[in-house]
Amino acid sequence: MNNKINSLEIFLMNEQPFTCPHCGTRCEEIGNFCHTNAKFLIEQCLNKNCGFMCGEEEDEDYLKLWKII
Ligand SMILES: [Zn+2]
Repeated sequence: MNNKINSLEIFLMNEQPFTCPHCGTRCEEIGNFCHTNAKFLIEQCLNKNCGFMCGEEEDEDYLKLWKII
């Protein structure tokens, strides 16, 4: 992983579509590392004036809840 990714804020996934914590706009997945050891997604806010980027990580409790693991 590069430094840019390391410096991203990480949020836990939940059942809602991910929305920007700053402006509330839906975010889109721009990178998917779920199948790597990193196990997270990179999301970017669809609001061009905002452009917020963050990581979204699978919460273990969430995975257990949905019997994924
Ligand atoms: Zn935003």
